[in-house]
Amino acid sequence: MPRKGKTSPSYDPSTDRQTLGRLREEFRSIVNTFCDPRPLLRGSVERLARRCGKKACRCLTGQPHQSTVFVDRSGPRRKLRTVGWAESRRLRKLTQPYRALRRLRARLPGLLLQARACGDRLVAWRLGEGRRRAPAEERP
Ligand SMILES: [Zn+2]
Repeated sequence: MPRKGKTSPSYDPSTDRQTLGRLREEFRSIVNTFCDPRPLLRGSVERLARRCGKKACRCLTGQPHQSTVFVDRSGPRRKLRTVGWAESRRLRKLTQPYRALRRLRARLPGLLLQARACGDRLVAWRLGEGRRRAPAEERP
């Protein structure tokens, strides 16, 4: 990466302009996700497979017992609750967007740093263009 305020002679400003355009679209998409009015829920729907521990149960040698649970993280304490198929679907629609939103939120600082680095290189290049257009220094 070129030093701040300087660009190499082979610097192509269109690359950074394209990157900035892509970052703008990504930023727009993140903002839209924040503005989405649909409700969110902190938690997850998970499949559990476990052995009950009872003697002579089929799970001892064969398939473990399977169940779908809702891991509720909406309160101060994590709670587990067994849910049926329909409810698991309904809960996923609330919990998945929240986790997706958290991932997008985590992307923001990196995105802004990247945008600033692109912008700095573009400005450095434009300053170089300006210097070349400035009148030459008068010599005595
Ligand atoms: Zn069992």
